[in-house]
Formats: sequence, C-alpha cells, structure tokens
Amino acid sequence: MPELPEVEIVTRRLNTALAGTEVESVLAPGMNVMKTFAPPLEALAGRELTGVRRIGKMPVVEFGELSLLIHLMSAGRLRVFDKRASIKDRASRVLVRLADGRELRLREFGTKQRAWAKLLPEGEVERDEMVATLGPEAWPAPPLEALAAAVDQPRHLHPLLRDQRAIAGIGRSWVDEILWEARLSPFRKGSELTSEEVERLYDGLAVLGAAIDHYEDVIGEQVPDKLPMPLKVHRREGEPCPRCGTTIEAVYFAEHQTNYCPTCQTGGKVLKDRRLSRLLK
Ligand SMILES: [Zn+2]
Repeated sequence: MPELPEVEIVTRRLNTALAGTEVESVLAPGMNVMKTFAPPLEALAGRELTGVRRIGKMPVVEFGELSLLIHLMSAGRLRVFDKRASIKDRASRVLVRLADGRELRLREFGTKQRAWAKLLPEGEVERDEMVATLGPEAWPAPPLEALAAAVDQPRHLHPLLRDQRAIAGIGRSWVDEILWEARLSPFRKGSELTSEEVERLYDGLAVLGAAIDHYEDVIGEQVPDKLPMPLKVHRREGEPCPRCGTTIEAVYFAEHQTNYCPTCQTGGKVLKDRRLSRLLK
C-alpha cells in the first residue's frame, strides 16, 4: 500500500509531467470507482490539468476549479502512460486521456475493487469527510505539542499511528520503521508515553522525509509500480537489527504484520505471536 513517502514522490513526478496539459476526455471503467456523480466526469473535457498534489495518502489531481480526490486503498496505483489503455485492461479504474496522447491512469491490481475517486469543486476537497477527519500530516512532522495531543489515546501505537484520523500518512510499512527509530514498542499505549518518548517519536517521523529524499535520488521521471522502499525492519524478521544486531522479530495479524527489535524496542521481550497463540487455543 502506498504510504505518505510513496504518494509524495508519485504526485511530485506526476505534477512535473502533467501540469499544464489539456484533458481530452475522462472515463471510469471501474464499476464502482466514482463516489460522486455531480459534477460528471465529462465536465473535465477540454480543461487544463493544473497540478497533482497529496493529502495524507490520497493523491489529488487538480483541474482548475475541479479536483479529483483519489483513495488508492491497498492496491491502487496512479501513473502516466504514453499510450492509451486497451479496453480489455481490467485493472483500469479511471482514465484521464490527455490531448497530447498520454493518459493518466488509476489502476488497481488484484480482484477486489476498492480504490475510489471523487470529483469535487475545488473548495469542497478540504470539507470532504475523508479529508476533514484527517489528523495532522505525519510529514513534515507536526509541532511536538500537536503530535503529543494526536497520540494521547489509550491505544497501542501500532494501530494508533496508522489511524489516519490520529495522524495522516502512515501505514503498515512505515509504522514499523518509525517505532524502530523511536525505540518504542508497537504495543505501548499512546497515552502512556512520557514526554521524552513523544520526542523520540517526533524524531522517528524523520524517516518519512528521508524516504522521500531517497526516492528523489533513485527514481527518474517514471515511478515504478513497486517502489524501492528503504525499509530497515519491516518484513525483515530473522535479520539482524541494523542498530544492535539482535534478530528482528515479527508479530502476525490476519492481514498484516509488525516487525520490531526486542533489544531496542521491548526491553528484550519477544512478544507473543498472535497468529500462533490463536492456533494453540
Ligand atoms: Zn536493535
């Protein structure tokens, strides 16, 4: 799933490639992809694509007074192609055909159709329920006091930091990296953090900016569907911790996993594997 650093580099590159181009037509082959019906997609024909930006993990494609707000969900990708998609391309969800022959394509891989888009008058983007309920952006990091307030909830840090209403932009990959940088357990509760620990969390958010810098260095004009994510602990169970050499451990959930270093993050404790303990019950 593309998270803040990935969506940031995608929208930066798309903005460079597309700002100022004219739209010929827009189609939505995805059955249920459009969550709005007025204004219709036809309203974009003949307009200029004025820019591409990001709110949290959501790309926003601007067409003057109209904005296309996109939620990629887990398998959506936004990319520009030199040629138009074949009608048979079953991954196509929204196709923005440009007058110069190129095409901005929202595609979604896998069988589930979950990605969505909304065409909104410019000023309504900020008022959309998905946008209005977002917490502060995780990058650039919010002021320390705002971060402290955002995480002051009696919930484990792992789900809390991924909750877009608490803080926007973090998902399953970067949460592990942030917590490892901050030397905090994924099972610490936000409301139990000391001010020194909140400061460490604040410093840990810098991995998001470092990832964007990394992408700026290694990614050219075209962003590949699978980005070279500079992850140190996520999905690296069994490997040595880059900081202390202890073996990275994993806790598995139904649809995701969290990785951590016992020495750096949990006081040496290896946490119960919930998948295993459920099986043994
Ligand atoms: Zn370690």
